[in-house]
Amino acid sequence: MTENKRSRFNIARRIVVKVGSSSIAYPTGKLNLFQIESLVRQLSNLHNQGRDVLLVTSGAIGTGAGRLGLSGRPRTIPAKQAAAAVGQGILMHIYEKFFSEYGVTAGQVLLTREDFSDRRRFLNARNTLHALLQFGVIPVINENDTVAVDEIKLGENDTLSALVAGLVDAELLVLLSDIQGLCTADPRRDPGACLIQEVPEITPEIESLAGGAGSKLGTGGMATKISAARIAAHSGVSTVLACADEKDIILKVINGELVGTVFWPCSNKLENRKQWIAYSAAVCGKIRVDEGAAAAMLKHGKSLLPSGITGVEGQFEIGSTVSIVGPDNQEIARGITSYSSAEIDQIKGVQTREISRILGHKDYDEIVHRNNMVLNL
Ligand code: GLU
Repeated sequence: MTENKRSRFNIARRIVVKVGSSSIAYPTGKLNLFQIESLVRQLSNLHNQGRDVLLVTSGAIGTGAGRLGLSGRPRTIPAKQAAAAVGQGILMHIYEKFFSEYGVTAGQVLLTREDFSDRRRFLNARNTLHALLQFGVIPVINENDTVAVDEIKLGENDTLSALVAGLVDAELLVLLSDIQGLCTADPRRDPGACLIQEVPEITPEIESLAGGAGSKLGTGGMATKISAARIAAHSGVSTVLACADEKDIILKVINGELVGTVFWPCSNKLENRKQWIAYSAAVCGKIRVDEGAAAAMLKHGKSLLPSGITGVEGQFEIGSTVSIVGPDNQEIARGITSYSSAEIDQIKGVQTREISRILGHKDYDEIVHRNNMVLNL
């Protein structure tokens, strides 16, 4: 059954592969050339089969730190940025060298959180990636760590790779790291830990299996991998978590072999714009709603009307993405608002017919229309 389902990977036309720092660099900060060569050979082979391949690679900061003679990962932002500036060049140089040996062209793409959160930049990034794929180029993507500061950065590449997979409508996301996959316990501590071969749905139990960040150079841990798999699943993308060290691991995944852990996509994939609202857009404020409004949205898929609103937090304008929070303080939805925070403050709790009397105008009945809303993120 599992094997059969995995055979669909063989016909995947567009694949995103993410590789973690610890898989391509040694703890010394020097590159693991064998690993990078093997990675590039496998990706080039998939590319030669006519598939679109995108690589999301970490390792800029670790490699840069190694070249600068720092021990371990730099701590301050300027030191990280400086290390990334040095390391990104080294990384790209080695990828370019290996890809060109196989006659494949690679193109560097550096993204920040704002390239996702700003709708215009998001669409620009998508156009760029599509253009690269059309030219037969393998995009080699990383966060733009040289300019990113903590407040605006994604901070780890698991999330970045899932957002990229959604951005380009990939069928498959392969997350490679130094772990075999998702296990029933932490295999570094518990010898009885077993590999979970497939996750049909990301439940709270699955989330509770995630420990903290693992290695010295990387920043991701199981938690970010599961969260990335969730973003991918809602975007209609399958995710496979597997070990970069295993020989020909990407080709094994594509051949449907039972390696690593597969997270299957949700049956109700979010349309592209809703994916953006749910996972990329910057959240500018909060709208608090009562139980009745929460139930109307969650159970009946209704739009949010002013009558169910109990409060508003933050300052935002029409068209901003906001979080909609239930009486128990849990986020129940995210959506694009048709009214500003100041207007919502004036019309909260009132009937729709009173909007124009209070504001002097009424452009919409709904504060957040259901077409602009994503439930249960
Ligand atoms: N962008 C970071 C780097 O290249 C890595 C982030 C991560 O470890 O996921 O060093």
